Order: sequence, then structure tokens, then C-alpha cells
Amino acid sequence: MGCISLLEKPHAVCIPYPAQGHINPMLKLAKILHHRGFHITFVNTEFNHKRLLKSRGSNALNGLPSFQFKTIPDGLPPSDVDATQDIPSLCESTTTHCLCPFREILGEINDSSSSKVPPVSCIVSDGVMSFTLEAAKELGIPEILFWTTSACGFLGYMQYSKLIEKGLTPLKDASYLTNGYLEQALDWIPGMKNIRLRDLPSFLRTTNPDEYMIKFILQETERAKKASAIVLNTFEELEDDVIDALSSILPPIYSIGPLHFLQKQVDDESLALLGSNLWKEEPECLEWLDTKDSNSVVYVNFGSITVMTPDQLVEFAWGLANSKQSFLWIIRPDIVSGDSAILPPEFLEETKNRGLLASWCPQEQVLGHPAIGGFLTHSGWNSTLESISFGVPMICWPFFAEQQTNCWFCCTKWGIGMEIDNNVKRDEVESLVRELMVGQKGKDMKKKALEWKFKAEESAMTSGGSSCSNLEKVVQMLLSKEI
Ligand code: UDP
Repeated sequence: MGCISLLEKPHAVCIPYPAQGHINPMLKLAKILHHRGFHITFVNTEFNHKRLLKSRGSNALNGLPSFQFKTIPDGLPPSDVDATQDIPSLCESTTTHCLCPFREILGEINDSSSSKVPPVSCIVSDGVMSFTLEAAKELGIPEILFWTTSACGFLGYMQYSKLIEKGLTPLKDASYLTNGYLEQALDWIPGMKNIRLRDLPSFLRTTNPDEYMIKFILQETERAKKASAIVLNTFEELEDDVIDALSSILPPIYSIGPLHFLQKQVDDESLALLGSNLWKEEPECLEWLDTKDSNSVVYVNFGSITVMTPDQLVEFAWGLANSKQSFLWIIRPDIVSGDSAILPPEFLEETKNRGLLASWCPQEQVLGHPAIGGFLTHSGWNSTLESISFGVPMICWPFFAEQQTNCWFCCTKWGIGMEIDNNVKRDEVESLVRELMVGQKGKDMKKKALEWKFKAEESAMTSGGSSCSNLEKVVQMLLSKEI
């Protein structure tokens, strides 16, 4: 049998939106495609590439001959800050500034006089980096858009034009944020009957008719219609109604999650070195969990973007302390906006034997640890899906974007979550944490979470499972020369 020469390999250029919750799943998908024989170019922003080098060392980015990293500027002023960039500014900046440098990378790869890698045969782009569709069109190659949201969050974003048409957003004035207006239930969204306005993605909560994030969502959801296909990190059994609804308005949709299950099956030693954490992980958390009984620790982590006030931090602290449960609490260095996170010394003293604080952890390993009994989360989609796939029930404190929608689905549809009021108070934290860890509701949610875990495993880890079959279709589509 003849060997395929290197230059005949298919070549996927993968470009995530430059934030943690987008880079993680994109890297997983890139590794899976690499395993399926694709040459990979993974495009990071210069800002994130520097942070990755700092948090993981150069090994994490050296890549392999057939898996390489390239960088583009994000268009924002240079900064050395080790923190998440401002999201609206980053959305505006990537939309405006990234197409040119992205085209240059594609041009360099395709320059047969100097390039040692196969020509680009397809683009796998984040759903909110849809400017890349222009480049795929110029080259006449297929492009899939990877929306790293839940299907329900994505369907929530798809409602924005209708919300504007119906006059539901922008809000008439600031009183509408608190006068009960957002509590109204909506009856027209398939798969989301009776969802409240406040459970739809948060950018609609504005009184500004020129709000950039609304324009951005309208632009990205409209352009999604032009992709060759759309992939989602979810599984059909979890979101079937919503996926059906999306399928009727968009190009073919493939649910291929949970990606961490699919990726686990392909990660060899060299691929495992390629990581995407922008903060340095503290693996000591796992050793500490090893000393704890099973299902005895509540894990608290609000992801990479959520910020809170000093008061909210203190309310969470005393709620955890008063619950008397063991906890692992990850406090990102930039979690308190414009300030450092300061916890009362009495809290530290009181919880020193049953609480561990750290600044970043290997979350999938933590959620998969038998000591973890519940998760106090901001309901980011990656965190939610990771929690579901390890059978861990949640307390949800959604911060922004489609986290509100994920929270509503966890609490009302999937039976695995309890919402905590945005205006967080220690008594509510205490009682919800107790309920989660030792109450009847917690037990019921745990049972349900284990059922979802089983379904997630079936879809992504057994041949013929829905996510495995969908992945096969995506690979075939990317290999086909037709657009
Ligand atoms: N994460 C991690 N360690 C931490 C906190 C987060 O590895 O201490 C990972 C987590 O596993 C998830 C991602 O960072 O994959 C966060 O994405 P998510 O969508 O949950 O939230 P976002 O950060 O986008 O708000």
C-alpha cells in the first residue's frame, strides 16, 4: 500500500474565539481531527499565546510536525495583564481586525514556493469569529462554525431579532431591570416553552439601542446561516428539541459532545502535552481531594470571566463556612473586579480544616474525582457539560451571556440544578449548599445527574453513539472537496 505524502494530507485551520471557554473545546476538536489524519494549524491571539507560554511552558505549544500553532494580533492595545480581556471590546476588535492577519496565515500556508505543509483544505472556526467565512469563500473550501455554547443558549441568541421586532429589547428604561418585566414568560420558542425573558442570554438586558453586544449577536447568528455546517459541544439526548429547532433554521447541525470524552480516546503522550489553560493549574487540589470521603466536597468555581463585588465574595465565603460542608473553592486572581480578593481572617480560621482555596485547577479531573458531591458554578457551558458528564449536580449562579439559559435548563428541564439569587446572601448559600450535599433535593439531583452521565458516555464513548456518528459525518464533510 502506498504512503500518502505529507503534502496530500487534509489540512484544517482551527481558530477559536480568544477566551478560555472557547480555546478549550476547540483544542479538543483539533486533537480529534489530528487523530483522524488532518494536519492542524491552531490559531491563537498573540495575547493568549504569551499567557499559555507562561502558564504551561513552551512544551505546551511546541506542537508536533503535523500540529502547529500560529498567532495573530487581536487588535486590542498591547497588555501584559494575566487576566481575561474585556469581552465586548474583544468581540468588536476581532470582528474588525482579525480577518487580514488570518488571511496572511492562510496565504503563507498555501504558498507552494516556501510552505512545507499541505495546503489548507478546510477551516474550523469559532461561531463568533464568523469573519473567517470570508476567507473560506475566497479559497473555495468548506468551513464549519463551532458554536461553543449549549444548543439552548445558541437558540436563545437566535431569538434576538425577534425580541427586537417585538419591542422586548432594548428595555425602555433602567426600571425594567427590576420591575418584574424580565419575569414574563415567553411562549413562542420551540423547546423552551415558558422560559422567562431573564433566562435568555443576558445581552438583551440593556436600555441602549446601540448596544454593541446585541449588534454582534445579530451579526454572528445571521452569518451562521452561511457555514457549510455547524458543530456543537452537546449531545442529542440532552437537547433534542432544541437541536431540532435549530436544524430547521440553520445549515446542518452536528452535536459532537461531550468533546472531552471523544478527545480522551485519542490523546496520546505527545498530544496530551498540548494544553490550553491560561492560568497555571494547581494540581495539589487533587491530592487534597484524595484525602476526602466520596461525595463529601462541594466544588466552587466561577470560570474564567465572571467577576463579583467584594461583598458577594464575602457572602459566598460565610455561606460556605456556615454550611459546615467541606469545599474546594477556586478564586481566580482577577475574580473581584478592579480589586484583589480579600477573605475575612475569621472565615479562613474557621474553615482551615475543611476548605481548600486555590487560584486555578484542572477542572475536568476535579469534577471527575469521587470526593466531589456538588458544584457551585456560574453555569458556563463547558463547566455545565463537564459537570453533567461526571454526574455532579449543581447550584447555579449565572453571570452573563447564555449562562442564564443553561441555568434554566439545569433547573427546570434536566433536574440537576438549583438557582441562587444574583443578589447573593450567605443564608441562601448556606441552605442551598446543605440541600445539595445532604438534602433530599440533592439526592434526587444526583440520581438525575448520574442518568445524564450515562447518556453522555453512551453518545460519545460507544461506537454508534449519537456524538460518535455525528463526528464521523463532520470528518467526511471536511474531507469532501465540495462546499
Ligand atoms: N477551567 C479549569 N480550571 C479552573 C476553571 C475553569 O480548567 O480552575 C476550565 C473549565 O474546565 C472549562 C473552562 O475553563 O473548560 C471554563 O469554561 P466555561 O464555559 O465553563 O466558562 P467561562 O470561563 O467561559 O465563563
